[in-house]
Amino acid sequence: MFENLSDRLSGVFDRLTKQGALSADDVKAAMREVRVALLEADVSLPVAREFIKAVESKATGQAVTKSVTPGQQVVKIVHDELIHVLKGDAEPGALKISSPPAPILMVGLQGGGKTTTTAKIAKRLKEREGKKVLMASLDVNRPAAMEQLAILGTQIGVDTLPIVKGEDPVAIAKRAKTQASLGGYDVYMLDTAGRLHIDQELIAQAAAVRDVANPRETLLVVDGLTGQDAVNVATEFDDKIGVTGVVLTRMDGDGRGGAALSMRAVTGKPIRFVGLGEKLDALESFDPERIAGRILGMGDIVALVEKAQQTLEAEQAERMIRRFQKGQFNMNDLKMQLEQMIKMGGMEGLAGMMPGMGKMQKQISEAGVDDKMLARQIALINSMTKKERANPDLLQASRKKRIAKGAGLEVQELNRLLKQHRQMSDVMKKIGKGGKGGLRQMAKQ
Ligand code: GDP
Repeated sequence: MFENLSDRLSGVFDRLTKQGALSADDVKAAMREVRVALLEADVSLPVAREFIKAVESKATGQAVTKSVTPGQQVVKIVHDELIHVLKGDAEPGALKISSPPAPILMVGLQGGGKTTTTAKIAKRLKEREGKKVLMASLDVNRPAAMEQLAILGTQIGVDTLPIVKGEDPVAIAKRAKTQASLGGYDVYMLDTAGRLHIDQELIAQAAAVRDVANPRETLLVVDGLTGQDAVNVATEFDDKIGVTGVVLTRMDGDGRGGAALSMRAVTGKPIRFVGLGEKLDALESFDPERIAGRILGMGDIVALVEKAQQTLEAEQAERMIRRFQKGQFNMNDLKMQLEQMIKMGGMEGLAGMMPGMGKMQKQISEAGVDDKMLARQIALINSMTKKERANPDLLQASRKKRIAKGAGLEVQELNRLLKQHRQMSDVMKKIGKGGKGGLRQMAKQ
């Protein structure tokens, strides 16, 4: 079996556990292992390369969380990025089937699971959404395929269009449309013919059917175990027919699901469902998190790192409160606050976070602070030296000019920031002193 990515990474990271942040070299070393893991999971090489590039820049410089190893932390970063790439715009599992009868065109190669998936989706629409569905097989070259759909229809209690010998696919599509309208169906599904390989005739036939049916959804069914081939098939079908979504079948097998990543990265098409077995209820909405976990071949690490990060944030907050209690509030503290504000969803999210903060927020917003300003203020603080941050009293005219220039902003803006810092630091001093106007008093406000 595959070696776990986090085991591999722990070797790379053992020696740097004591460092504060992930360095460029360490991240590079880790990314070599991530690359192997991706390739083993059947992600195509160019996609793996692109992906690594994106993750590398995100991971470099990240503070190392205390209670997890850097290896585990990198796994989490990789995992988050995987989910980001895997998530499409379309909601997984949801199909556009308003204004009945809505046509759904099913396309794909022979043996990919197209007919089975047609029945699975029909069953799902019937049972979960109470839709009346009609299925029609257009595979005129393979009478057995038409029979197969009819049998599946009987099994799941979904109607199939009666088979008429000698009819061509376009005629069948038209008949399905008429039947769906007359019969009051919500959805009609057209199961097109498949071939072993993509050929002109197959594409021409699917295109002709598409033109008469004008489908609301065109779902491409591909075997998830075929890796890069599945991606090539998807690209070709999308170019020639135009697909609105992908169904990856055989995701119940030993494969690690890398095709899902390649599919998203190369075609940009959303993956709607995954097939998880031969049974007709073995179809699930695509779940990026689950696939990401599978591609990396690891389980609980993500949860562990999330917990550790929460602990780290709590530790930081505690440290900050201790400093306030001593009446210390420098530019580093202010920066941390500003970053926290952005994280909490900007100014809005801040209200009520700390005693007295509601009042302060009002002052801040009266002064015309918006979320973009938060980012500019952080830029100003970043432009200060260590000494200046620790002791803002150092800031005389020439230093101010340099700092504003470094952040690409005006000195006035820096002055506003300094004023805000003074006001906040006054409040912090009050909190620190306790008693009247102190912590207890603030809590009552
Ligand atoms: P078509 O030629 O594309 O219509 O493919 P079929 O629907 O006939 O499926 C081919 C075979 O794959 C059948 O034996 C199905 O039972 C099987 N199959 C389809 N989907 C899945 C799946 O998600 N997992 C597994 N294990 N088998 C599947």
